[in-house]
Amino acid sequence: MPIRLIISLLLFASSLPAPAQQATEGALTQLPLEKLSDRSFTALAQRALDVKPGWLHAETDHFILHFFDAPTAAAVSVEVEFYYRVIATELGRDTAKWERKCHVFLFSDDADWKMFQAAGALDPWSGGIHAQGTLFVLRNKGWLARAQTLPHEISHLVFERFVGAGVPLWLNEGFAEYAATRCQSAFYRARGYDSKPRARAVPEALYLPVAQLTGAATYPADEAAVAAFYSESEKLVRFLAAADKKAFVSFLDAMGKGARFESALSANFGSRYSSLDALEKDFKPYATSQLRAN
Ligand SMILES: [Zn+2]
Repeated sequence: MPIRLIISLLLFASSLPAPAQQATEGALTQLPLEKLSDRSFTALAQRALDVKPGWLHAETDHFILHFFDAPTAAAVSVEVEFYYRVIATELGRDTAKWERKCHVFLFSDDADWKMFQAAGALDPWSGGIHAQGTLFVLRNKGWLARAQTLPHEISHLVFERFVGAGVPLWLNEGFAEYAATRCQSAFYRARGYDSKPRARAVPEALYLPVAQLTGAATYPADEAAVAAFYSESEKLVRFLAAADKKAFVSFLDAMGKGARFESALSANFGSRYSSLDALEKDFKPYATSQLRAN
């Protein structure tokens, strides 16, 4: 099976303020490599370890962190566990059986990250990737939870574990964007900031009919169209989740098992949307309206 890489675009940095106390949360106990509970590294993870000596290691309830900078790792450990719980709840999943922890590699240095990108033949613009259940993120020292890369990639990872790797592009990216905004706003709300999840309106000229969006196998060619693709995918996930949360969770199960969009839609939302046309009639104004924030 070819290595499947889900590359995140660093398109949508959040402008929220960063809580100052965050870096001191979550003290981590470091472990030597041979004491880690899981040492089954993918080929790409091995390449990351080989970039240079000096990796430090620690574990949280659900993740094994590899890093160079301990304060960054401590901050990230709080975030990843928090995001994990938010996403698992969104997916309506019992997380108690997640026994095999996921590896997260935190690069602190641009030069190391560039070396890893070259060794792994990754796109030079990527700031984080999720590949075969392992995360690789460039996280510069002192970086606080400003960008959405980490929650976006964690969303991909948790989604793949609980729903599967075979969902179409729109659902994979749409869910990651949707969950990431919910993660970030929940993270800030838990720290006393007034923050609500927000979604971006899709420019009318770039709106794709639902059949086209849900059938896309590759990203659009130009930057504006890629941004619109992410926004519209997120809007469709948000629209379905808001219509009926229980139906949405069962829709995800069907999609994870390889159902076509139309079949999963009619099986779970059939009483409301009997066809793509019926869905489109409500969804298009929702996706393109500047007046509706969510
Ligand atoms: Zn992504």
